[in-house]
Amino acid sequence: MTKTSYPVVWDLDVFFKGGSESEELRRHLDETKEHLASFTEKLNQFKTPTSVNEASEVVNLIEEGSDISQKIRQAGAFISCLEAQNMSDHKASTLRSEVTELSASYGSLFNSFKQQLAQTDKNVWKGLLEHEELSELSFVLNEWRDAAQEQLSEDEESLISSLSVDGYHAWGQMYNTIVGDMTVNVTVDGEEKELSVGQANNLLSHENPDVRKQVYEKLEAAWKEKESLFANTLNHLAGFRLNVYKKRGWDNVLKEPLDINRMQQATLDAMWGAITKHKQPFVDFLYRKAELLGKDKLEWYDLGAPTQENSQKLSYDDGAQFILKHFEQFSPKMADFSKTAFKDAWIEAEDRPGKRPGGFCTGFPLSEQSRIFMTYSGSMSNVATLAHELGHAYHSFALKPVHPLNRRYAMNVAETASTFAEMIVADAAVKESKTTEDKIALLEDKLQRSVAFFMNIHSRFLFETRFYEERKKGFVPASRLNELTDEAQREAYCDAVNSTSPSYWSNKLHFHITGVPFYNFPYTFGYLFSLSIYAKALEEGTSYEDQYIELLQDTARMSVEDLAMKHLGEDITKESFWEKGIELCKKDVAEYLELTSK
Ligand SMILES: [Zn+2]
Repeated sequence: MTKTSYPVVWDLDVFFKGGSESEELRRHLDETKEHLASFTEKLNQFKTPTSVNEASEVVNLIEEGSDISQKIRQAGAFISCLEAQNMSDHKASTLRSEVTELSASYGSLFNSFKQQLAQTDKNVWKGLLEHEELSELSFVLNEWRDAAQEQLSEDEESLISSLSVDGYHAWGQMYNTIVGDMTVNVTVDGEEKELSVGQANNLLSHENPDVRKQVYEKLEAAWKEKESLFANTLNHLAGFRLNVYKKRGWDNVLKEPLDINRMQQATLDAMWGAITKHKQPFVDFLYRKAELLGKDKLEWYDLGAPTQENSQKLSYDDGAQFILKHFEQFSPKMADFSKTAFKDAWIEAEDRPGKRPGGFCTGFPLSEQSRIFMTYSGSMSNVATLAHELGHAYHSFALKPVHPLNRRYAMNVAETASTFAEMIVADAAVKESKTTEDKIALLEDKLQRSVAFFMNIHSRFLFETRFYEERKKGFVPASRLNELTDEAQREAYCDAVNSTSPSYWSNKLHFHITGVPFYNFPYTFGYLFSLSIYAKALEEGTSYEDQYIELLQDTARMSVEDLAMKHLGEDITKESFWEKGIELCKKDVAEYLELTSK
């Protein structure tokens, strides 16, 4: 086989040449601002429609608004990439503030348009939705109408939106700034290294327990040292959010995340209910893992550790080939798409200092391309992450024929395509393994994911709901945040771990993301939801791929309850639906326990 060599550094110049100093970006931002100004004048003239004849005016405003929104998101995606690839790119941070401001102005402007529109008389509204170009948007339009009716007055909402730039969102940015400056000194193989927290986090799955323990302790100490700063960022961010909810008369802190995820509380309850009932096999897995590591119980820093001497390292190119080969067996279209992503430098994978931790995928709507960010160090779990992010990118690709307003899928379904792609790769890795040791190692890797979604994410959900309840009563100090975290982790892991990570509330970026509240349960939702899709795909092979694409195309234009009913024939407000997905994971546990019984 001829060796292809894929680029490990992404190409951003295709969007705007010159990084944070880009003149093209400067022009784009200035033009977008001008466009926004002229659009503002148009919207100021807009009055609530009184007859169906005004439909085409509404269409034009929606199209123009969606155009501006895409321009802003194009710039925002570019700047996210700049910030991630080099955390000390201060020019990028300045640009970020500019785009945040632009986005907030657009948001509050468009929001007042939605509010005006929402006041349309019931019969006229019905007539509008029958208009040719509006009918395909009816789900989203009705969503706007419902949301507008639950918000404060137009003026109040626009004031909140403008104050959030230097309030709410600024706390999130402050968090990123502090984290970006943090470094940790660790000794690996006798060599002392200064690492970013992202690089240090990667070492938590190191095969040497001494390295893991050292990294864990150094990281905990580093977060501890800054805990009062982070208690401030988290409390003020949460306080801002809660105050807005209170003014709107929203009592339940989950209202907004559930609405955003187009999901009912009954669905969320059924999901956690099913998981809580079926934790025992995963507890058994954790105890077996401890045994294999020669311990009674796992420590926190053992959770990501391999029990096997897993020598399986894949070069970046081999990782790419592995992904492509297995995508091919489920969806040749997804494989083709991914090949383009590798070849055309859509992926930033290089292992170097100064990069932000973690991975993400972001879309450039004007170019109809995505970019994937991660740090690839050769482990199978890196390969899975890469597949995961490619799944996100493929989702955006599948949505290309759909109207831009019907592409704005929520996070719970956003994690569906990614998890589906990740599952293909993880399962294939297990099946293809040549030795029992490899098989155990890979099954373990797969089970780690179940543990992450059923236990780790559950602990985040438990922590966050409880923290927000306490925050309603006042400032929650770092010491209490540590306590709440410790409790949530012990509960979610059913006490199967000896130690916890009390600093988790500060080191998990997700608690500090302002764009999205409660970015935890959507992961678990996506995981179990995609397991059902995966089960179908396993039965039907590549003939399923078109149905899969149809499902993806519907992800942003109906509730998740309807989506599951239409494409899977399932009622997801029932625990029995969720149990099916968990059942597949339990099989992995059974296989693992059997293979490791000697
Ligand atoms: Zn994801």
